[in-house]
Amino acid sequence: MSYKIAVLPGDGIGPEVMKSALDVLAVVEEKFSFKLELEEGLIGGCAYDATGDPLPEATEKLCLGADAVLLGSIGGPKWDNLPPEKTPELGGLLALRKKLKLYANLRPAVIYEELKAMSPLSEKVLREKVDLLTVRELAHGIYFGEPKELTDDMGLDTMVYTKEQVVRIARQGFEAAQRRSKKLCSVDKANVLSSSKLWRKVVIELAKDYPDVELTHMYVDNAAMQLMLNPLQFDVIVTSNLFGDILSDESAAICGSLGMLPSASLGEKISLFEPSGGSAPDIAGKGIANPIAQILSLAMMLEISFELNDAAAAIRRAVDACVTGGIRTGDIIEPGMKAVSTDEMTKEIISRI
Ligand code: NAD
Repeated sequence: MSYKIAVLPGDGIGPEVMKSALDVLAVVEEKFSFKLELEEGLIGGCAYDATGDPLPEATEKLCLGADAVLLGSIGGPKWDNLPPEKTPELGGLLALRKKLKLYANLRPAVIYEELKAMSPLSEKVLREKVDLLTVRELAHGIYFGEPKELTDDMGLDTMVYTKEQVVRIARQGFEAAQRRSKKLCSVDKANVLSSSKLWRKVVIELAKDYPDVELTHMYVDNAAMQLMLNPLQFDVIVTSNLFGDILSDESAAICGSLGMLPSASLGEKISLFEPSGGSAPDIAGKGIANPIAQILSLAMMLEISFELNDAAAAIRRAVDACVTGGIRTGDIIEPGMKAVSTDEMTKEIISRI
């Protein structure tokens, strides 16, 4: 069976790191005997320049007809002053996320022992490799709950979750834990919030379906603190939209470079895979961006959308071998080391697959 991938390189470093990911894809296709059908589309600033629309109809159609979307990044100063609906962020990426009905965001955060110096956390805290995954609910909660109101002297938001919504995201958390170290920490604020009391009750009920997963619970304020004090205790964190927004950024920050962090956003039918960082206009066009976030986003796509687990694992092993072997782009370089270019890093990864 052939799968179709919508490939959206976007702006800034997007096309540079997307090229790396597609080079890696070609190698694993050959090695693991599969072939994906790729079709490129425009999104973001480049799409606005070409068509006047940051999410052209052709791109929307391409994505809705694909089995998965692999995105680079969008945006840059050139398009910052456009009307909101024409900006790469609102009119492009957020609009696409809505069309795909994405409901779960998976963000791994990895701190290699060899890259400890990049992290703001101390060596004492980072005794070994940190490798955690935040599974964030993306389509409900306080960002979308009604009523929502703003007057001159009152602001109102509503945090609401239904049982069905919690079950859907919690299953993603349990399944992710099953793919990893089988430890799931559900983060809520069940000592205060009704939506969290329901969240916790539903997660506990659901745990019966996953007897191999060890479930714990943590209040969000404590989780924010524990990520700083002892990130090694976490494997998979599952949480609501607001809490996940904050905790996944916090866990990204402790990793040191955005260039290392992939992400997956799961939709009902079609999922989207992209680096956690943006278009990095400060280094775009210089050939020095770290391609690892894009390459690991590809690995997430192969595993989550197509169950090509061996190919995904081979990519991850090759990335690990490069990073631990001292091959570094400028964002993860230490004094005395020589930085490699985007292309050199890509070749080094490919040679280790
Ligand atoms: P950014 O993530 O683009 O850059 C922040 C810092 O991280 C920069 O110093 C950059 O050089 C570095 N960085 C990011 N990715 C890197 C990589 N692969 N290799 C090496 N260094 C890397 O965030 P920003 O500067 O706040 O935003 C720039 C533009 O990107 C803005 O227009 C913003 O709206 C957009 N943006 C897009 C996305 C997305 O496409 N999903 C996400 C965030 C920001």
